[in-house]
Amino acid sequence: MTNLAHTDSTHEPSLRSWIDSANDPETDFPIQNLPFGVFRVAGTDQRPRIGVAIGECVLDLHRCATEGLLGSVEPEPCCALSATTLNDFLALGRPAWRATRAAVSDLLSASGSRRSDVQALGESILLKRADAELLLPARIGDYTDFYASIHHATNVGSMFRPQNPLLPNYKHLPVGYHGRASSIVISGTPVRRPYGQTMAEGQPGPVYGPCRLLDYELEMGFFVGPANQRGRPVGMATASDHIFGLAIVNDWSARDIQKWEYQPLGPFCAKNFATTISPWVVTLEALEPYRNAGPRRGDDDPPLLEYLQPVQEMGYDITVEAYLSSKRMRDEGMQPLRLSRGTLADMYWTIAQMLVHHTSTGCNLAPGDLLATGTISGKAQTTRGCLLELTWRGEKPLTLPDGTKRSFLDDGDEVIMRAWCHREGAARIGFGECRGIVLPAE
Ligand code: CA
Repeated sequence: MTNLAHTDSTHEPSLRSWIDSANDPETDFPIQNLPFGVFRVAGTDQRPRIGVAIGECVLDLHRCATEGLLGSVEPEPCCALSATTLNDFLALGRPAWRATRAAVSDLLSASGSRRSDVQALGESILLKRADAELLLPARIGDYTDFYASIHHATNVGSMFRPQNPLLPNYKHLPVGYHGRASSIVISGTPVRRPYGQTMAEGQPGPVYGPCRLLDYELEMGFFVGPANQRGRPVGMATASDHIFGLAIVNDWSARDIQKWEYQPLGPFCAKNFATTISPWVVTLEALEPYRNAGPRRGDDDPPLLEYLQPVQEMGYDITVEAYLSSKRMRDEGMQPLRLSRGTLADMYWTIAQMLVHHTSTGCNLAPGDLLATGTISGKAQTTRGCLLELTWRGEKPLTLPDGTKRSFLDDGDEVIMRAWCHREGAARIGFGECRGIVLPAE
Protein backbone atom coordinates (compact mmCIF):
# COMPACT_ATOMS: atom_id res chain seq x y z
CA MET A 1 0.00 0.00 0.00
CA THR A 2 1.00 3.58 -0.50
CA ASN A 3 2.55 5.31 2.48
CA LEU A 4 0.95 8.65 1.73
CA ALA A 5 -0.37 10.72 4.56
CA HIS A 6 -4.05 10.88 5.10
CA THR A 7 -5.51 14.25 5.84
CA ASP A 8 -4.79 15.58 9.31
CA SER A 9 -5.28 18.78 11.27
CA THR A 10 -3.04 20.74 8.81
CA HIS A 11 -5.68 20.24 6.08
CA GLU A 12 -8.67 21.31 8.19
CA PRO A 13 -10.58 23.82 6.00
CA SER A 14 -11.54 25.89 9.04
CA LEU A 15 -7.87 26.42 9.99
CA ARG A 16 -6.95 30.14 9.92
CA SER A 17 -3.61 31.93 9.92
CA TRP A 18 -2.71 35.07 11.87
CA ILE A 19 -1.46 36.40 8.51
CA ASP A 20 -4.57 38.02 7.03
CA SER A 21 -3.64 37.54 3.35
CA ALA A 22 -3.52 33.76 3.93
CA ASN A 23 -7.23 33.79 4.82
CA ASP A 24 -8.30 35.41 1.53
CA PRO A 25 -10.50 32.79 -0.22
CA GLU A 26 -8.74 33.62 -3.53
CA THR A 27 -5.16 33.11 -2.32
CA ASP A 28 -3.11 30.22 -3.71
CA PHE A 29 -1.25 29.96 -0.43
CA PRO A 30 -3.62 29.48 2.52
CA ILE A 31 -2.28 27.75 5.65
CA GLN A 32 -3.48 24.38 4.28
CA ASN A 33 -0.96 24.63 1.38
CA LEU A 34 2.52 25.55 2.74
CA PRO A 35 4.58 25.05 -0.48
CA PHE A 36 8.39 25.13 -0.35
CA GLY A 37 10.67 27.36 -2.43
CA VAL A 38 14.00 29.17 -2.42
CA PHE A 39 14.37 32.95 -2.29
CA ARG A 40 16.60 35.87 -1.42
CA VAL A 41 15.72 39.46 -0.57
CA ALA A 42 15.20 41.14 -3.97
CA GLY A 43 17.99 43.43 -5.11
CA THR A 44 20.62 41.81 -2.86
CA ASP A 45 23.16 39.06 -3.40
CA GLN A 46 22.11 37.43 -0.13
CA ARG A 47 22.73 33.71 0.28
CA PRO A 48 19.59 31.89 -0.97
CA ARG A 49 17.21 30.60 1.69
CA ILE A 50 14.49 28.00 1.86
CA GLY A 51 11.05 29.42 2.54
CA VAL A 52 7.37 28.59 2.66
CA ALA A 53 4.73 30.71 0.89
CA ILE A 54 1.89 31.90 3.11
CA GLY A 55 -0.66 34.37 1.71
CA GLU A 56 1.30 37.34 0.38
CA CYS A 57 4.37 36.46 2.50
CA VAL A 58 7.32 34.10 2.68
CA LEU A 59 8.36 32.45 5.95
CA ASP A 60 12.16 32.07 6.17
CA LEU A 61 12.77 28.47 7.26
CA HIS A 62 16.50 28.95 7.72
CA ARG A 63 15.70 31.58 10.32
CA CYS A 64 13.00 29.39 11.87
CA ALA A 65 15.57 26.60 12.24
CA THR A 66 18.30 28.80 13.72
CA GLU A 67 15.84 30.43 16.14
CA GLY A 68 14.73 26.99 17.35
CA LEU A 69 11.15 27.57 16.22
CA LEU A 70 10.60 24.24 14.48
CA GLY A 71 9.58 22.42 17.63
CA SER A 72 9.81 18.66 17.29
CA VAL A 73 11.59 18.68 13.90
CA GLU A 74 14.83 16.67 14.27
CA PRO A 75 18.26 18.35 13.97
CA GLU A 76 18.95 16.74 10.55
CA PRO A 77 15.98 18.32 8.73
CA CYS A 78 16.64 21.61 10.55
CA CYS A 79 20.17 21.52 9.13
CA ALA A 80 18.85 20.63 5.64
CA LEU A 81 16.48 23.62 5.82
CA SER A 82 19.49 25.91 6.25
CA ALA A 83 20.88 24.92 2.82
CA THR A 84 20.61 27.10 -0.30
CA THR A 85 18.49 24.56 -2.23
CA LEU A 86 15.89 21.95 -1.27
CA ASN A 87 18.03 18.94 -2.32
CA ASP A 88 19.21 17.89 1.17
CA PHE A 89 15.69 18.25 2.53
CA LEU A 90 14.27 16.24 -0.40
CA ALA A 91 16.71 13.42 0.37
CA LEU A 92 15.31 13.00 3.89
CA GLY A 93 11.90 11.68 2.87
CA ARG A 94 8.35 11.85 4.04
CA PRO A 95 8.73 11.64 7.86
CA ALA A 96 10.93 14.79 7.80
CA TRP A 97 8.64 16.55 5.30
CA ARG A 98 5.57 15.73 7.40
CA ALA A 99 7.15 16.86 10.68
CA THR A 100 8.23 20.16 9.08
CA ARG A 101 4.76 20.75 7.67
CA ALA A 102 3.20 20.20 11.11
CA ALA A 103 5.69 22.59 12.76
CA VAL A 104 5.21 25.32 10.13
CA SER A 105 1.43 24.96 10.32
CA ASP A 106 1.64 25.50 14.09
CA LEU A 107 3.88 28.59 13.66
CA LEU A 108 1.44 30.19 11.23
CA SER A 109 -1.85 29.11 12.77
CA ALA A 110 -4.01 31.75 14.46
CA SER A 111 -4.20 29.46 17.48
CA GLY A 112 -0.59 28.23 17.27
CA SER A 113 1.62 28.05 20.33
CA ARG A 114 4.64 29.88 18.81
CA ARG A 115 2.80 32.70 17.04
CA SER A 116 4.24 35.46 19.23
CA ASP A 117 7.81 34.16 18.73
CA VAL A 118 7.48 34.57 14.97
CA GLN A 119 5.78 37.95 15.27
CA ALA A 120 8.57 39.20 17.52
CA LEU A 121 11.12 38.61 14.72
CA GLY A 122 9.08 40.67 12.25
CA GLU A 123 10.34 41.12 8.71
CA SER A 124 13.59 39.31 9.43
CA ILE A 125 11.66 36.04 9.35
CA LEU A 126 8.49 36.90 7.42
CA LEU A 127 8.99 38.85 4.17
CA LYS A 128 6.43 40.21 1.78
CA ARG A 129 6.48 37.99 -1.32
CA ALA A 130 6.86 41.13 -3.43
CA ASP A 131 10.21 41.80 -1.67
CA ALA A 132 11.55 38.32 -2.42
CA GLU A 133 13.39 37.19 -5.54
CA LEU A 134 12.36 33.59 -6.16
CA LEU A 135 15.00 31.14 -7.34
CA LEU A 136 15.00 27.56 -8.64
CA PRO A 137 13.90 25.42 -5.68
CA ALA A 138 16.47 22.68 -6.27
CA ARG A 139 19.66 21.84 -8.14
CA ILE A 140 17.98 19.83 -10.88
CA GLY A 141 20.50 17.17 -11.87
CA ASP A 142 18.28 15.47 -14.42
CA TYR A 143 15.03 16.31 -16.13
CA THR A 144 12.69 13.87 -17.90
CA ASP A 145 9.53 14.74 -19.77
CA PHE A 146 6.68 12.28 -20.34
CA TYR A 147 3.77 12.20 -22.79
CA ALA A 148 1.06 11.03 -20.41
CA SER A 149 -2.06 12.66 -21.87
CA ILE A 150 -3.71 10.26 -24.28
CA HIS A 151 -5.72 13.17 -25.70
CA HIS A 152 -2.56 15.15 -26.47
CA ALA A 153 -0.88 12.08 -27.95
CA THR A 154 -3.96 11.30 -30.06
CA ASN A 155 -4.33 14.88 -31.30
CA VAL A 156 -0.67 15.32 -32.20
CA GLY A 157 -0.47 11.81 -33.65
CA SER A 158 -3.52 12.37 -35.84
CA MET A 159 -1.93 15.46 -37.42
CA PHE A 160 0.95 13.35 -38.67
CA ARG A 161 -0.66 9.87 -38.94
CA PRO A 162 -4.44 10.35 -39.40
CA GLN A 163 -5.11 6.61 -39.75
CA ASN A 164 -2.91 5.57 -36.82
CA PRO A 165 -2.55 8.37 -34.24
CA LEU A 166 -1.45 6.27 -31.23
CA LEU A 167 1.69 4.20 -31.64
CA PRO A 168 1.50 0.54 -30.47
CA ASN A 169 3.42 1.16 -27.20
CA TYR A 170 1.26 4.02 -25.91
CA LYS A 171 -1.13 2.05 -23.67
CA HIS A 172 1.62 -0.24 -22.36
CA LEU A 173 4.16 2.23 -20.99
CA PRO A 174 4.43 5.94 -20.13
CA VAL A 175 6.38 7.32 -23.12
CA GLY A 176 9.04 9.92 -22.24
CA TYR A 177 12.37 11.41 -23.28
CA HIS A 178 15.38 12.64 -21.35
CA GLY A 179 15.21 16.43 -21.30
CA ARG A 180 17.78 19.11 -20.59
CA ALA A 181 18.27 20.28 -16.97
CA SER A 182 20.74 23.10 -17.66
CA SER A 183 18.16 25.35 -19.36
CA ILE A 184 15.42 25.08 -16.73
CA VAL A 185 14.58 28.60 -15.57
CA ILE A 186 12.37 30.09 -12.90
CA SER A 187 9.07 31.82 -13.69
CA GLY A 188 9.55 35.38 -14.93
CA THR A 189 12.78 34.66 -16.83
CA PRO A 190 12.47 35.88 -20.45
CA VAL A 191 12.90 33.20 -23.13
CA ARG A 192 14.85 34.02 -26.29
CA ARG A 193 13.36 32.67 -29.55
CA PRO A 194 15.76 29.91 -30.56
CA TYR A 195 17.59 29.38 -33.83
CA GLY A 196 17.54 25.97 -35.41
CA GLN A 197 17.56 23.82 -38.49
CA THR A 198 14.21 23.44 -40.23
CA MET A 199 12.97 21.91 -43.44
CA ALA A 200 10.00 23.60 -45.06
CA GLU A 201 7.73 21.52 -47.26
CA GLY A 202 8.56 21.69 -50.95
CA GLN A 203 12.01 23.19 -50.35
CA PRO A 204 15.13 21.58 -51.77
CA GLY A 205 16.98 21.53 -48.44
CA PRO A 206 16.94 22.63 -44.82
CA VAL A 207 17.77 26.15 -43.58
CA TYR A 208 19.23 27.51 -40.34
CA GLY A 209 17.42 30.50 -38.79
CA PRO A 210 15.07 31.71 -36.05
CA CYS A 211 12.29 29.29 -35.09
CA ARG A 212 9.03 30.35 -36.75
CA LEU A 213 6.64 27.98 -34.94
CA LEU A 214 7.34 28.61 -31.25
CA ASP A 215 4.90 26.98 -28.83
CA TYR A 216 4.38 26.38 -25.11
CA GLU A 217 3.32 23.14 -23.41
CA LEU A 218 1.21 23.28 -20.24
CA GLU A 219 2.47 20.59 -17.87
CA MET A 220 2.97 19.72 -14.23
CA GLY A 221 6.31 18.47 -12.97
CA PHE A 222 7.26 16.60 -9.81
CA PHE A 223 10.43 16.68 -7.75
CA VAL A 224 12.10 13.45 -6.74
CA GLY A 225 12.79 12.92 -3.04
CA PRO A 226 15.04 10.13 -1.72
CA ALA A 227 17.19 8.43 -4.36
CA ASN A 228 16.89 4.83 -5.44
CA GLN A 229 20.08 2.86 -5.75
CA ARG A 230 21.32 2.15 -9.26
CA GLY A 231 20.16 -1.31 -10.25
CA ARG A 232 17.18 -1.18 -7.85
CA PRO A 233 13.88 -0.32 -9.56
CA VAL A 234 11.21 1.39 -7.47
CA GLY A 235 7.96 -0.57 -7.21
CA MET A 236 4.46 0.87 -7.24
CA ALA A 237 4.08 0.11 -3.51
CA THR A 238 6.75 2.66 -2.55
CA ALA A 239 6.69 5.05 -5.53
CA SER A 240 5.02 7.88 -3.61
CA ASP A 241 7.84 7.78 -1.01
CA HIS A 242 10.14 9.11 -3.75
CA ILE A 243 7.89 12.04 -4.77
CA PHE A 244 8.15 15.30 -2.83
CA GLY A 245 5.73 17.59 -4.63
CA LEU A 246 4.62 19.31 -7.81
CA ALA A 247 5.14 22.58 -9.70
CA ILE A 248 3.89 24.01 -13.00
CA VAL A 249 6.11 23.39 -16.05
CA ASN A 250 6.15 25.17 -19.42
CA ASP A 251 8.02 22.97 -21.89
CA TRP A 252 8.75 25.59 -24.59
CA SER A 253 8.76 23.84 -27.97
CA ALA A 254 10.05 24.82 -31.41
CA ARG A 255 7.58 22.96 -33.63
CA ASP A 256 9.36 23.55 -36.94
CA ILE A 257 12.68 22.36 -35.53
CA GLN A 258 10.90 19.40 -33.89
CA LYS A 259 9.18 18.31 -37.08
CA TRP A 260 12.47 17.98 -38.97
CA GLU A 261 14.61 16.46 -36.23
CA TYR A 262 12.32 14.15 -34.22
CA GLN A 263 12.72 10.91 -36.14
CA PRO A 264 14.06 8.46 -35.15
CA LEU A 265 15.20 9.46 -31.64
CA GLY A 266 12.53 11.96 -30.50
CA PRO A 267 12.84 15.63 -29.49
CA PHE A 268 16.31 17.17 -29.22
CA CYS A 269 17.05 20.85 -29.99
CA ALA A 270 13.31 21.63 -30.30
CA LYS A 271 13.03 21.32 -26.52
CA ASN A 272 16.47 22.01 -25.09
CA PHE A 273 16.65 25.84 -25.11
CA ALA A 274 14.33 26.62 -22.16
CA THR A 275 11.88 25.05 -19.73
CA THR A 276 10.15 27.34 -17.22
CA ILE A 277 8.94 26.18 -13.80
CA SER A 278 6.85 27.86 -11.13
CA PRO A 279 8.81 28.64 -7.95
CA TRP A 280 6.69 26.95 -5.25
CA VAL A 281 6.67 23.18 -4.83
CA VAL A 282 3.30 22.00 -3.50
CA THR A 283 3.88 18.84 -1.48
CA LEU A 284 1.99 15.56 -1.83
CA GLU A 285 0.92 16.15 1.79
CA ALA A 286 -0.82 19.39 0.76
CA LEU A 287 -2.36 17.63 -2.26
CA GLU A 288 -3.78 14.78 -0.19
CA PRO A 289 -7.40 16.09 -0.17
CA TYR A 290 -7.37 16.21 -4.00
CA ARG A 291 -6.04 12.70 -4.63
CA ASN A 292 -8.33 10.44 -6.65
CA ALA A 293 -8.61 6.88 -7.89
CA GLY A 294 -6.37 7.61 -10.87
CA PRO A 295 -7.06 7.07 -14.55
CA ARG A 296 -9.58 4.44 -15.56
CA ARG A 297 -8.39 2.29 -18.41
CA GLY A 298 -10.93 1.64 -21.13
CA ASP A 299 -12.58 -1.77 -21.46
CA ASP A 300 -10.71 -2.37 -24.70
CA ASP A 301 -7.34 -1.29 -23.32
CA PRO A 302 -4.68 -3.98 -23.02
CA PRO A 303 -3.92 -5.27 -19.51
CA LEU A 304 -1.14 -3.49 -17.66
CA LEU A 305 2.07 -5.35 -16.98
CA GLU A 306 2.40 -6.15 -13.31
CA TYR A 307 5.23 -3.72 -12.47
CA LEU A 308 2.93 -0.76 -13.33
CA GLN A 309 0.19 -2.03 -10.98
CA PRO A 310 -1.74 -1.40 -8.85
CA VAL A 311 -2.70 2.14 -9.90
CA GLN A 312 -3.61 2.70 -6.22
CA GLU A 313 -5.28 6.07 -6.15
CA MET A 314 -2.40 8.24 -7.29
CA GLY A 315 -4.38 10.56 -9.54
CA TYR A 316 -4.72 14.24 -8.60
CA ASP A 317 -7.49 16.71 -9.39
CA ILE A 318 -5.36 19.71 -10.34
CA THR A 319 -6.93 22.31 -12.63
CA VAL A 320 -4.37 23.81 -15.03
CA GLU A 321 -4.77 26.96 -17.12
CA ALA A 322 -2.77 28.71 -19.84
CA TYR A 323 -3.13 32.43 -20.62
CA LEU A 324 -1.60 34.61 -23.33
CA SER A 325 -0.89 38.31 -23.27
CA SER A 326 0.67 40.18 -26.21
CA LYS A 327 2.88 43.21 -25.66
CA ARG A 328 0.11 45.42 -27.02
CA MET A 329 -2.43 43.88 -24.64
CA ARG A 330 -0.11 44.63 -21.72
CA ASP A 331 0.58 48.17 -22.97
CA GLU A 332 -3.15 48.84 -23.27
CA GLY A 333 -3.98 47.30 -19.88
CA MET A 334 -5.96 44.35 -21.25
CA GLN A 335 -6.33 41.18 -19.21
CA PRO A 336 -4.49 38.08 -20.47
CA LEU A 337 -6.65 35.77 -22.59
CA ARG A 338 -7.31 32.33 -21.18
CA LEU A 339 -6.42 29.79 -23.86
CA SER A 340 -7.26 26.57 -22.05
CA ARG A 341 -8.36 24.99 -18.80
CA GLY A 342 -7.66 21.31 -18.28
CA THR A 343 -7.03 18.91 -15.43
CA LEU A 344 -4.29 16.51 -14.43
CA ALA A 345 -7.09 14.02 -13.74
CA ASP A 346 -7.35 13.52 -17.53
CA MET A 347 -3.93 11.88 -17.80
CA TYR A 348 -3.60 8.25 -18.91
CA TRP A 349 -0.64 7.55 -16.59
CA THR A 350 -0.08 8.57 -12.95
CA ILE A 351 3.07 10.27 -11.66
CA ALA A 352 3.79 7.09 -9.67
CA GLN A 353 3.72 5.00 -12.86
CA MET A 354 6.04 7.52 -14.55
CA LEU A 355 8.56 7.22 -11.71
CA VAL A 356 8.28 3.42 -11.57
CA HIS A 357 8.71 3.03 -15.31
CA HIS A 358 11.69 5.45 -15.30
CA THR A 359 13.49 3.29 -12.72
CA SER A 360 12.31 -0.05 -14.16
CA THR A 361 15.71 -0.69 -15.75
CA GLY A 362 17.48 0.16 -12.50
CA CYS A 363 18.02 3.77 -13.56
CA ASN A 364 18.86 5.76 -10.43
CA LEU A 365 16.95 8.97 -9.71
CA ALA A 366 18.39 11.59 -7.36
CA PRO A 367 16.86 14.13 -4.96
CA GLY A 368 15.93 17.22 -6.96
CA ASP A 369 15.44 15.44 -10.29
CA LEU A 370 12.43 16.83 -12.13
CA LEU A 371 9.96 14.60 -14.00
CA ALA A 372 7.23 16.32 -16.00
CA THR A 373 3.92 14.88 -17.19
CA GLY A 374 3.85 16.09 -20.79
CA THR A 375 1.21 18.44 -22.19
CA ILE A 376 -2.02 18.24 -20.22
CA SER A 377 -4.93 18.04 -22.66
CA GLY A 378 -8.39 16.61 -22.23
CA LYS A 379 -11.05 15.62 -24.71
CA ALA A 380 -12.68 19.03 -25.12
CA GLN A 381 -11.20 21.69 -27.40
CA THR A 382 -11.01 24.14 -24.46
CA THR A 383 -8.71 21.77 -22.53
CA ARG A 384 -5.90 21.59 -25.08
CA GLY A 385 -2.58 22.51 -23.48
CA CYS A 386 -0.53 23.87 -26.41
CA LEU A 387 -0.99 26.03 -29.52
CA LEU A 388 -0.19 23.13 -31.85
CA GLU A 389 -3.43 21.50 -30.73
CA LEU A 390 -5.48 24.67 -30.09
CA THR A 391 -4.85 26.07 -33.59
CA TRP A 392 -4.53 22.61 -35.15
CA ARG A 393 -1.00 23.12 -36.53
CA GLY A 394 -1.83 26.76 -37.26
CA GLU A 395 -4.80 25.98 -39.50
CA LYS A 396 -7.27 27.66 -37.10
CA PRO A 397 -5.56 30.76 -35.68
CA LEU A 398 -6.81 32.34 -32.45
CA THR A 399 -7.89 35.98 -32.29
CA LEU A 400 -6.51 37.93 -29.33
CA PRO A 401 -8.36 40.82 -27.61
CA ASP A 402 -6.00 43.27 -29.38
CA GLY A 403 -7.36 42.06 -32.74
CA THR A 404 -4.22 40.21 -33.84
CA LYS A 405 -4.17 36.51 -34.72
CA ARG A 406 -1.94 33.74 -33.39
CA SER A 407 -1.07 30.36 -34.83
CA PHE A 408 2.11 30.21 -32.76
CA LEU A 409 3.86 32.63 -30.38
CA ASP A 410 4.98 36.10 -31.48
CA ASP A 411 7.90 38.03 -30.01
CA GLY A 412 6.71 39.94 -26.93
CA ASP A 413 4.01 37.39 -26.10
CA GLU A 414 3.81 36.37 -22.48
CA VAL A 415 2.60 32.88 -21.57
CA ILE A 416 1.14 32.62 -18.06
CA MET A 417 0.21 29.29 -16.49
CA ARG A 418 -1.75 28.75 -13.30
CA ALA A 419 -2.86 25.66 -11.42
CA TRP A 420 -5.06 25.06 -8.41
CA CYS A 421 -7.12 22.48 -6.54
CA HIS A 422 -10.54 22.77 -5.01
CA ARG A 423 -13.16 20.40 -3.78
CA GLU A 424 -16.09 20.44 -1.40
CA GLY A 425 -14.93 20.03 2.18
CA ALA A 426 -11.34 21.16 1.58
CA ALA A 427 -9.55 24.50 1.25
CA ARG A 428 -8.66 25.84 -2.21
CA ILE A 429 -4.91 25.69 -2.76
CA GLY A 430 -2.87 26.88 -5.75
CA PHE A 431 0.56 26.65 -7.32
CA GLY A 432 1.14 30.35 -8.08
CA GLU A 433 2.21 31.23 -11.61
CA CYS A 434 4.62 30.08 -14.29
CA ARG A 435 5.37 33.06 -16.61
CA GLY A 436 7.66 33.79 -19.50
CA ILE A 437 7.93 36.49 -22.18
CA VAL A 438 9.25 35.61 -25.65
CA LEU A 439 12.21 37.77 -26.69
CA PRO A 440 13.11 38.15 -30.39
CA ALA A 441 15.88 35.96 -31.82
CA GLU A 442 19.25 37.67 -31.65
CA1 CA B 1 6.49 18.29 -23.28
